[in-house]
Formats: sequence, C-alpha cells, structure tokens
Amino acid sequence: MLFYFPEKMVKERLQAIRARIAAAAARVGRDPDGIALVCVTKEVGIEMIREAVAVGATDIGENRVQEALAKYRSMQAAAGIRWHMIGHLQTNKAKAAVGIFDLIHSVDNLRLAQEIQKQAQLAKKMQAILIEVNVSGEKAKYGVDASSLESLVSSISGMNNIMLLGLMAMAPFSDDPQRARPYFKMLKEMRDGLRRYNCGNIDMKHLSMGMSADFEVAIEEGADMVRIGSAIFK
Ligand SMILES: *Cc1c(COP(=O)(O)O)cnc(C)c1O
Repeated sequence: MLFYFPEKMVKERLQAIRARIAAAAARVGRDPDGIALVCVTKEVGIEMIREAVAVGATDIGENRVQEALAKYRSMQAAAGIRWHMIGHLQTNKAKAAVGIFDLIHSVDNLRLAQEIQKQAQLAKKMQAILIEVNVSGEKAKYGVDASSLESLVSSISGMNNIMLLGLMAMAPFSDDPQRARPYFKMLKEMRDGLRRYNCGNIDMKHLSMGMSADFEVAIEEGADMVRIGSAIFK
C-alpha cells in the first residue's frame, strides 16, 4: 500500500527548488532573495495549491484566465498571494485578467496593451506588465518579434494605467538546458538596451525567464523571476 503525503511532497520539492535557485545564484555572485519563484499551477488542483501556499509559496502563475479566475476565487482567503498571468492573453480576456493578476507577463502586441490600458483605467488600477519576446523567432511561438519590441515599449510609455516592468521569454524546447543560454543572454541584452526608456511608467527591472528544465541557466544569465511548474507539482 502506498500513501501519498502531498503536503510533504510539495514542501520538499519547493525546498529542493529553492536550494537549486540559491546555488545557481551563488555561482554568479547574485543574491537569491532577489529571485522570485513563480509556482506555475496550471492544471494543478486547488488542494495542491493550498498546500504550496501553506508551505511558503507566494507567487502563483497561471496560463489560462478562466482557470485562474476559479482558483483566485477559491483562494481569496489566502492573503498575500501574487497572481501571475504567464500564458497567451487574448484581447477579449483583458478585462478579466486586469481583475485578478498582479503581473501579466505575456503582453506581446499593441492592441492587447491598449485594451489592458482601457480596462485598467476603468478599474482604477495600475496594471503591472512584462512584454513577452519571441527570442527564438519560431513562427509558432507567442511574443513580440525583436524588431517590433522597441516600438511597443515606446507606445506603452504613453499609457497611464500600465506599469511596464521588464521582459519575459521562453527558450525553445530542448533536452539540453545549455541550449537555452544564448536566448536568455539575448533577452537580457534587449532588456538592458531598453533601460534608456525608464521613466514614469517604465522600469525595466524584471527578467522573467527559466522553467523547470532550464531555470538554473536562466538565473546564471540574469533572470529575477523563474516560472516553475512540473518540478514542483508533477
Ligand atoms: C507551463 C509554463 C511554465 C512552467 O513550465 P514547467 O516546465 O512545468 O516548469 C513556465 N512558463 C510558461 C509560459 C508556461 O506556460
């Protein structure tokens, strides 16, 4: 007979991930406290999310607005959780997204930014966002093309209810995390270059990059937000 203790399991896995984050940070002389662990709970049940929060998870990442909405409502009691939208966001879901997310990582076109601005203004909210960049240039990937990034940033600089806090990207899928390194380097270079836009509603401080398979490489390359799902919950 096999017994599962999900709470213990999640706790141990979170501890193991934190230790790996700390080790990766130490390798490049960074402070691990400056790296946010976004626990990606897509397709993860509410009980498991509660367990994760009970053992210290503070940042929850979801990739579908509907699924996130249901979870957000049943987690209301757990104060202090920050909700992250990490998946592709359709313009017609912007209103719901503005209603629940502390940070939207996946803004990748002007029309979406304009709709977020409009909904945030109606909600009297300052909506924090990141721009998702298609660093690999693969056609099937979401994210703004590198060539259109600067004009999107420039447009957003005029949007009073949006706070642009940095960039997000996904490296192409690979069995070898080292293959992700050049893409992470590229994203950091783009972010560093865009710092000259820092002003009123732009503060290019965050780099959201790295998932279960490649977060250590991402941290070595400057990530300050890693989005980890399967290494904690599967
Ligand atoms: C699912 C997902 C993650 C987490 O992926 P894992 O490999 O499960 O850690 C991170 N970022 C985005 C955008 C995702 O959709």
